[in-house]
Amino acid sequence: MKLELGPEDQAFRQEVRQFVRDNLPEDVSRRGRYDFHHHRADIALWMKILAGRGWSVPHWPVAYGGTGWTGVQRFIFEDEMRRGFAPTADRIGTELVAPVLYTFGSDEQRQEHLPAIRNGDVFWAQGFSEPGSGSDLSSLRTRAVRDGDDYVVSGHKTWTTDAHHADMIFTLVRTNPDAKPQAGISALLIDLNAPGVVRRPIWTIDEGLTVNEIFFDDVRVPARNLVGEEGAGWTYAKFLLNNERATSAEVPHTKRDLAQLRHIASIEQRNGRPLIQDALFRNRLARIEVETLALEYAVLRVLSGSGDNQVASLLKVRGSELRQKVADLAADALGERALAVSADREADLCLVDEVASPAVPDHGVGISAKAIFRRATTIYGGSNEIQRTLIAKTILKL
Ligand SMILES: Cc1cc2nc3c(=O)[nH]c(=O)nc-3n(C[C@H](O)[C@H](O)[C@H](O)COP(=O)(O)OP(=O)(O)OC[C@H]3O[C@@H](n4cnc5c(N)ncnc54)[C@H](O)[C@@H]3O)c2cc1C
Repeated sequence: MKLELGPEDQAFRQEVRQFVRDNLPEDVSRRGRYDFHHHRADIALWMKILAGRGWSVPHWPVAYGGTGWTGVQRFIFEDEMRRGFAPTADRIGTELVAPVLYTFGSDEQRQEHLPAIRNGDVFWAQGFSEPGSGSDLSSLRTRAVRDGDDYVVSGHKTWTTDAHHADMIFTLVRTNPDAKPQAGISALLIDLNAPGVVRRPIWTIDEGLTVNEIFFDDVRVPARNLVGEEGAGWTYAKFLLNNERATSAEVPHTKRDLAQLRHIASIEQRNGRPLIQDALFRNRLARIEVETLALEYAVLRVLSGSGDNQVASLLKVRGSELRQKVADLAADALGERALAVSADREADLCLVDEVASPAVPDHGVGISAKAIFRRATTIYGGSNEIQRTLIAKTILKL
């Protein structure tokens, strides 16, 4: 495999970079620089701008609005989005739910939901985990009982990312309590504004809002919102989770965080010199940069078709650990001033001035919050312990 990009890919990179420069509104970019929990309004606006160019869902089949780009082009696109501080698209809708719908959904579901996801009009959440059913997902207890043309759903989901600003939720429910655990599960598309749905925010230790609890109290869901076949939800869930892990190396995010870390280290001083000149610090930074580069090539090998695409769990483990390492080093680079940095990521950037006390320089805003929140990367999408077991079974055949 050739490791450097060819002239066509380089020209493509320039085209995307220029597009971001010309089209990403200044205030959205500024918020993206500090804010890792993006605002719905910013995401929706950016998705509409991208949709206008036909770029909002590059990875979808062309028939549904995808671009037909190669895997490497899609990676470059993502890299440039993060580099320019553009908001991340509604990832659950575009990357997780839509592929299930165009692969297993009905024509009616495709027509109803795909255009709305593509244009950033309707946002989605993923309702799998429950209290007591995370790693052991097949033990989930949320019930759906058929009643005429509806299912009646009761239960409790938790850790539901972005449900506070989502419109719909892709939900795993138990339709047959008598079948074996996996065989009794189905997938339902539920309107989060339906009567009987209650959302409760979970404020995390970084003082940000990403995750929520969802309560279903006899919620009536039209039976046409069943995805595929009743009892086959586990198959669709595995398909969705594999897609989630395949993209969760998140190398473009890590590269952007590394650039930010270098910036911090060029400003922060140690012993009268910029931190970036400190030998110990440089050593730690270099290690992370080398590991990131190695992961980038592993991802590119998979995307260019020359690697084993069964390695989603492996990419997830490496990618999530790297995201933590970069964020930890950035907090270390701020030294004791990192203690004072606890920005409310939900705040508009107009609040940043209030959040950043005089002791906190502009380049330090949000750094500690990010380092704390990154604890979650090795948990969500299936914890890294579970991924290691999968690697042992499927790759090492142990
Ligand atoms: C920020 C964040 C966002 C999330 N977003 C979503 C979302 O949008 N939708 C959704 O459905 N879920 C979401 N989750 C939930 C996530 O998928 C679960 O937290 C995860 O699967 C772990 O489940 P659990 O929390 O129940 O922990 P548990 O399963 O109770 O695990 C606790 C600990 O035990 C370990 N463990 C458990 N079983 C084993 C085993 N067999 N072998 C070895 N170790 C084991 C785990 O690795 C972990 O360290 C999110 C979680 C977080 C933190």
